[in-house]
Amino acid sequence: MSFTELGLSEPLLRAVADLGYETPTPIQQQAIPVVLEGGDLLAGAQTGTGKTAGFTLPLLERLSRSPARNQGNGKPAIRALVLTPTRELAAQVEESVRDYGKYLKLKSMMMFGGVGIHPQIDQLRRGVDILVATPGRLLDHMQQGTVDLSQIEIFVLDEADRMLDMGFIRDIRKVLAKLPARRQNLLFSATFSDEIKSLAAGLLDAPKIIEV
Ligand code: AMP
Repeated sequence: MSFTELGLSEPLLRAVADLGYETPTPIQQQAIPVVLEGGDLLAGAQTGTGKTAGFTLPLLERLSRSPARNQGNGKPAIRALVLTPTRELAAQVEESVRDYGKYLKLKSMMMFGGVGIHPQIDQLRRGVDILVATPGRLLDHMQQGTVDLSQIEIFVLDEADRMLDMGFIRDIRKVLAKLPARRQNLLFSATFSDEIKSLAAGLLDAPKIIEV
């Protein structure tokens, strides 16, 4: 199976070709069609399987097919939120979003703690379509009213098992409480503990389940 057969459009196919990817990995072959259809997804996948492109490519495709949302000041509002357990992963995922989305006009941002908050506030004001964040700093912005999550269409929880191991469950629940009820949810985890299953049960609506 090729990336073209998976239903991705030309700007993404070109970006993938630029990176030298020839065939989609198993997780990409399974996840991309599910995400493109708009359904929820529970995916068991380790790092190194190509899972990042597995959600990033169809996420970009979906956003590029529908018109941007407006913050009210003519700048784009956030339509996709990816939560990651660590700043390193947030940076990696956001880099992937930029690499794969280089021929699209979508703006992405990474957000984590340990760095100044004001440049982040400025970047949010200038408009962001796709936000990749760690939970703690995102909650800081939510409490200060500097981030608006009311237009989120797609929510991704990446490495959910590590998030739980790191004690982020309460933070995740606080974020979820602020998202629109009607949205697409994608949960990626290397393992499926009872805790993950219960999180998934509360978060996902009739998810497709894939494991690689
Ligand atoms: P990930 O599991 O998302 O951390 O990706 C692992 C590595 O595989 C990354 O360096 C990607 O750039 C690379 N990669 C992802 N998908 C493909 C693909 N279809 N063909 C070749 N390399 C890929």
